[in-house]
Amino acid sequence: MDKKIKADYHMHTYRSDGKQTLEDNIERAIGLGLKTIAITDHGPFHCKKSRCTFDYQLVNKYEIRRLQKKYPQIKIMSGIEANLVSLRGDLDITKEQEKAFDIIVMGQHRSPHGWKFWDNITWRLRNFFPSTKGRREKVTNAYLKAMENHNIKILAHLNRYIKVNVGPIAKMAAEKGILIELNGKGVNFTDKEIQTILDAGANFVISSDAHRKEHVGNPIRVWKFLETHNIPKERIVNME
Ligand SMILES: [Zn+2]
Ligand SMILES: [Zn+2]
Repeated sequence: MDKKIKADYHMHTYRSDGKQTLEDNIERAIGLGLKTIAITDHGPFHCKKSRCTFDYQLVNKYEIRRLQKKYPQIKIMSGIEANLVSLRGDLDITKEQEKAFDIIVMGQHRSPHGWKFWDNITWRLRNFFPSTKGRREKVTNAYLKAMENHNIKILAHLNRYIKVNVGPIAKMAAEKGILIELNGKGVNFTDKEIQTILDAGANFVISSDAHRKEHVGNPIRVWKFLETHNIPKERIVNME
């Protein structure tokens, strides 16, 4: 399998916790010959201080419009890495705010707060404790509600910080055309889980999740993972 992707739909900038500018990402992607990228800074409940706000996301969006004219050789999408923030399946953006973006990546992280005080106990705080079978089921249901109610295109680094049951999520992903990410900072699936996803009919996407420009289009840990795990190339939507 050639170690090359043609699109990278998950990367950050200094507007959340990345080191680089939007233009750094774009120039690096063009240098690698990528055809499409999405700028996906973290959702509003992820960061401390004033970073990651929805307003910042809108600044990204308008900057992307300007940069798209400057760099017509690559398609630049305006995205967000929204967070799952409650057992009800809420994201940290509303359905109205979601319309501002070309692509929604849904990430899972332990630290984002919730919309309601109680979510900080039942979601945020609980995520710092070890998972149990019952907890996995609750989190899986939250995923299914989010996938049902929001216009999500990619599930980022599933299983990394918060464990889920991959089977039902892969089934709904297959039905709704949602992609399961193989993340450049590490892949958290067992052989059995990969097979479950393939059997359910869901497809994969490879993302860098770059927080520095040199990582754009360069998902090193995915290439390592694919050396020992067999995923047919045609099931990965952005392989070159
Ligand atoms: Zn993430
Ligand atoms: Zn990310």
